[in-house]
Amino acid sequence: MNLDFSPEEKQFQQEVRSWMQANVPTQKKPGAMGYHSRDDQMAWEQLLGKQGWLASNWPTEFGGPGWNATEQHIFDEERAAAGGAITSPFGLTMLAPVLMKFGSPAQQERFLPKIAKCEELWCQGYSEPGAGSDLASLKTAAIRDGNEYVVNGQKIWTTQGHWADWIFCLVRTDNEGRKQQGISFLLIDMKTPGIEVRPIHTIDGEHHLNEVFFTDVRVPAENLVGEEGQGWTIAKYLLSHERTCIAGVAGSKAGIEGLKKLLANTPTETGTRLDDPTVRQRIAELEVDLMALEFTNFRTLDKMAKGQPPGAESSGLKIKGTELQQALTEARVELGGDDSLPWHNEEEIGHAEYNNASLAYNFLRASTIYGGSNEIQKNVIAKFLVAL
Ligand SMILES: Cc1cc2nc3c(=O)[nH]c(=O)nc-3n(C[C@H](O)[C@H](O)[C@H](O)COP(=O)(O)OP(=O)(O)OC[C@H]3O[C@@H](n4cnc5c(N)ncnc54)[C@H](O)[C@@H]3O)c2cc1C
Repeated sequence: MNLDFSPEEKQFQQEVRSWMQANVPTQKKPGAMGYHSRDDQMAWEQLLGKQGWLASNWPTEFGGPGWNATEQHIFDEERAAAGGAITSPFGLTMLAPVLMKFGSPAQQERFLPKIAKCEELWCQGYSEPGAGSDLASLKTAAIRDGNEYVVNGQKIWTTQGHWADWIFCLVRTDNEGRKQQGISFLLIDMKTPGIEVRPIHTIDGEHHLNEVFFTDVRVPAENLVGEEGQGWTIAKYLLSHERTCIAGVAGSKAGIEGLKKLLANTPTETGTRLDDPTVRQRIAELEVDLMALEFTNFRTLDKMAKGQPPGAESSGLKIKGTELQQALTEARVELGGDDSLPWHNEEEIGHAEYNNASLAYNFLRASTIYGGSNEIQKNVIAKFLVAL
């Protein structure tokens, strides 16, 4: 297996690198979760959209650049290395593949172009207070009334719910039969009367998450994706895409490089902190794990680029990717010395500034929970192996 880039790929890499150097906003760095504020995030994504690079994993027939797995990998790596914010995944990498496979032509035409240009932001309404790992127990009800559904219930942990223009929701349209059978997939405009968004503040002190309440929310029946009762099949298809993008290979790579740079610039009596054999050992262990994750991610991206949905390997990517993110942020905080304090010294730099290293450390404790907890991913892999 030849892992070197071809001359064409190297040329592509140079093109992306130059564009990133010229266009990544340098004034405002992304926050702990990897995003800017809503307006800055939209401006960044719209810039990528103008370049035709926002919907980087979409096929050309839906307006994507039609990149193969290597090109996607190069793009993501160059974005992260240049310090460019991650893109909000809810529309681009979760809903879009669902609409391409299960959506009507009218839904594809209405929603996909606006996602590809970041004219509308989406959020994900799956989890409920009594339905997280046991997602099929969800209770938010959608009752058909003429040409509309009337939605009542509550979602929780809704990332970017306070930013979103739209939410894709799993709702219960039937209480008969197995609980998985009565679930449907509905697209709901967040401006519809009867929707209330309440913030949840996380351990990093920021506001990423929300509770979303629905009281007699009237949703046009044309916003149902697929058929009534097909929601569970669609939900599983979407989750495999979500878990693949949670692996965060490019971000971890940039994180390790950043840590090495910091240590190489921290002098000791005999050299720099990066010369310390115990420090080198710890970084080498992270790099070995990252390399293994990268190869697995490559294989999965290649499968997806050939039009095959990622299977149980997306669960493996989610487990290893999030464990690595946690190990890396732990190393960053433990080895970073006073550069790991939650805020920078105001007198030294002239203004108060949060330190992303410790905010990311705090926030990423949740990474083994979101996108389906890692324990549940191990169950998915076990079931897959038993079925072989
Ligand atoms: C930061 C963050 C962002 C999120 N964003 C979103 C979002 O945008 N949209 C959305 O819909 N949801 C979101 N979630 C919700 C997330 O998907 C759920 O938190 C997750 O699925 C776990 O569900 P739960 O919190 O109800 O925990 P529970 O299901 O109650 O699980 C509690 C513990 O029990 C373990 N457990 C449960 N069942 C089993 C089992 N069968 N075998 C072994 N162990 C088990 C779990 O692993 C966990 O450790 C987010 C969560 C977080 C923390």
